[in-house]
Amino acid sequence: MKIIIGSGSCGIAAGAHKVQTAFEAIIAEKGLNLSVEQTGCIGTCYLEPIVDVVDDAGKKITFVNVTTEDAMRIIDDYVVAQKELADLQISQEDITMIGKQKRIVLRNSGLIDPEQIDDYLAVDGYVAAQKCLLELTPEDIIDTVKVAGLKGRGGAGFPTWFKWDAAKKSPGTTKYMVCNADEGDPGAFMDRSVLESDPHALIEGMLIGAKAIGASEGIIYVRAEYPLAIVRLQNAIDQAREKGFLGDNLFETGFNFDLRIKAGAGAFVCGEETALIASLEGERGMPRLKPPFPAQKGYWNKPTNINNVETFANVPWIFRNGGDAYAALGTQESKGTKVFALTGKVKKGGLVEIPMGLTLHDVIFDIGGGIKADKAFKAVQMGGPSGGCIPASLLGTQIDYAEITKTGAIMGSGGMVVMDETTCMVDMARFFLDFTCKESCGKCTYCRVGTTRMLEILNRITQGEGRDGDIELLEELCYKIKDGSLCGLGQTAPNPVLTTIKYFRNEYEDHIYNKK
Ligand code: SF4
Repeated sequence: MKIIIGSGSCGIAAGAHKVQTAFEAIIAEKGLNLSVEQTGCIGTCYLEPIVDVVDDAGKKITFVNVTTEDAMRIIDDYVVAQKELADLQISQEDITMIGKQKRIVLRNSGLIDPEQIDDYLAVDGYVAAQKCLLELTPEDIIDTVKVAGLKGRGGAGFPTWFKWDAAKKSPGTTKYMVCNADEGDPGAFMDRSVLESDPHALIEGMLIGAKAIGASEGIIYVRAEYPLAIVRLQNAIDQAREKGFLGDNLFETGFNFDLRIKAGAGAFVCGEETALIASLEGERGMPRLKPPFPAQKGYWNKPTNINNVETFANVPWIFRNGGDAYAALGTQESKGTKVFALTGKVKKGGLVEIPMGLTLHDVIFDIGGGIKADKAFKAVQMGGPSGGCIPASLLGTQIDYAEITKTGAIMGSGGMVVMDETTCMVDMARFFLDFTCKESCGKCTYCRVGTTRMLEILNRITQGEGRDGDIELLEELCYKIKDGSLCGLGQTAPNPVLTTIKYFRNEYEDHIYNKK
């Protein structure tokens, strides 16, 4: 029998380490033959700390919101006396909600020990990489990703096969495969959770991509604010190297590929590809004009492919199950699944992975359980500070790149911040604009000065000092900043303001004219 404790950052923040210490002390004191192991985040962050008790036949009982006091009850009453502990066990409702998801990226999260490569190997880990290296040509690999219809999950939604093909076709023998793990949207933690819970899925995806483009070196750019992710990732890289999945002459094919981590200082703009490359090269992270694209001239001017964590984590599944199986999920425009970090005023916050094509209502109400304290839903912010607010009247919108864009928001990397009837939408727009204003690298006047002027206007509106004409001035600035900015940060920074003016103009007017 063993005890498995959810030990992602969400579990640790909720007290998983204290619960683990309590279990270890009780087991030692009682002299029981029980091991205590750890796993990552299964996505139901609102239930942390989560503890699974698995018997020798493999039967698993999940206990939720476990405290150090509960540890004694679980040992005495459940493990020793074999009594039911219904008040501590996961509810049927929560099991049903997990069951409504389709888990490809999160397939192993919360189920395996992220620090043990043998756990990953036991669920067919590295089988896809072995197949790609031994049996497939780079063209075969790119074709399969094309059939799958996988789009980059970092926000732009660019077809992955196209980027891989461009990097492959770029002349040169030195090429780089880079992972953007610089997840920076407020409220987004999808990539961090994959790194903490299933780091080998990323390594395997990068290895397959490296074979496709002909890269022998890979770099994972992770923000330094993710210390646990960095530790687990480094441990996974070391283990993969030890087992022969990284290094020279892999599977005796003559193909070499190795990986290293670069910890970034947490600048939001370094999520932009050219800024990320500048940061990797030791420069200040500032975007530059494209073309040339990184596939032509990237890291040290060599062909470079950059995808985010979620994109790579899809890849091994695609090669184990086929591009057609992946493409069978989702909509005509958007294939496969998408992971969302569901946060804000929703009852059951955490990570959800759903097939594309479900509606916002499906995610927020059927999976997320609806709004806390049964208040009324007001809006959901999708796409973080680059995205927009989608109102209740559009809850039926399908989760699909094109459909979400039509609302004025964007799919983004997967942040979904839910707001209830008490949320001031002007204040919400001000919050996101304050973020982008601070994160602007300062290169473009419109982005640097324009967002500062917008923030001044939003500050005075929310402080009851708004003036007649402020809404029109904000709109004018929004379009000028969009047109006059070099990179995505500036081009999308006005989106939260534009969408809140579009759907909640009355709240701006109330602040300005009724001094609410
Ligand atoms: Fe920097 Fe903003 Fe210009 Fe992007 S748009 S390069 S963040 S100033």
